[in-house]
Amino acid sequence: MSKLQFNNSNNAFFLSLKSEVDHYFNSQGKKRTGDSRLFTKAAILLSSAIILYAVLITNILPGWAAWALSGLLGFVLASIGFCVMHDANHGSFSTSQKLNDLMGLISSNGLGANAYFWKQKHNIIHHTYTNVDGIDDDIAKSPIIRQCPTQKWVPAHRVQHLYLPLVYSMTSMFWIFIMDFTKYFSRRIYRTAAWKMSLTEHLIFWLTKVYYVSVFIAIPIIVLGWKPWLIGYLTMNAVMGLTLSFVFQLAHVLENTEFEHVPLDTSKHIETAWAEHQLRTTSNFAMKNKFVSWFSGGLNYQIEHHLFPRVSHVHYPAISEIVQRKCAEFHLPYNQYETATEALGSHFRFMRQLGAKP
Ligand SMILES: [Zn+2]
Repeated sequence: MSKLQFNNSNNAFFLSLKSEVDHYFNSQGKKRTGDSRLFTKAAILLSSAIILYAVLITNILPGWAAWALSGLLGFVLASIGFCVMHDANHGSFSTSQKLNDLMGLISSNGLGANAYFWKQKHNIIHHTYTNVDGIDDDIAKSPIIRQCPTQKWVPAHRVQHLYLPLVYSMTSMFWIFIMDFTKYFSRRIYRTAAWKMSLTEHLIFWLTKVYYVSVFIAIPIIVLGWKPWLIGYLTMNAVMGLTLSFVFQLAHVLENTEFEHVPLDTSKHIETAWAEHQLRTTSNFAMKNKFVSWFSGGLNYQIEHHLFPRVSHVHYPAISEIVQRKCAEFHLPYNQYETATEALGSHFRFMRQLGAKP
């Protein structure tokens, strides 16, 4: 991986912001981790997933209802990813690290993905080198799709805005069956060497895959038959993949966000401080929409999340007022779209622009 460093010599913005955010938590006597709002949400989402699975596997519903419930299960699983997995793996679900690890395991590996790789890919690589082409694994889907101007263009990209939903709908299956195994066998996360795995981590990896194939593939095929299973399984994954992709893509791959590029095997210095880089590469959406904020685990407040990744998402609306004020004071951008539809429009327009021959 290239040695990439930020110029943190002028860190006045972040120091000033951090001191006000610290003051907010101290004066209110609040912990930065999750509270009853998050624990209630986790209980609702996890029990909903179990109930939906149980209803589907008992095969008591007519086909159309089972199909609709499979889609709903996909949506609930994506929401578990945003609200429980994301917070727990960042260590912001609870003050207890053991509970964070347990919830991370339940909500990542329970969905068939590997928490160990996610923590390095997301917490370290994506959160430090956001939108840096060549390092950030979140924008490394080339040549299938071209997500920033420095990536290689191929003629198929001309219509990438049209086949984008198909690619996104396969995200969860791609993650579980291809990306995890690629990381496991190559020992790399895109261009970064993966953390060394202990024997326990190897065991967890394989047991997770066996569990996933049993619960989401083998048992439903035996009980329901392969055809109903296939329809339900593809529907669940399509809804899950689309939901996961849109929420993550609407944070960074938009008309109002910036990108950096790091050529292979060279060092580069980014002339902005880390916090300013986060502001320039990240955008919020639908901040006033309570439903979006609830199901997306506060990922519509992506700016606050990138500046304070170890603060639980339940606090983002409150600290967002401080962040906006500080951005205005230091003349820094605070990118946001009023609604999810506006952000979605921007994402598709941007992907269409990137698809035109450079
Ligand atoms: Zn994160």
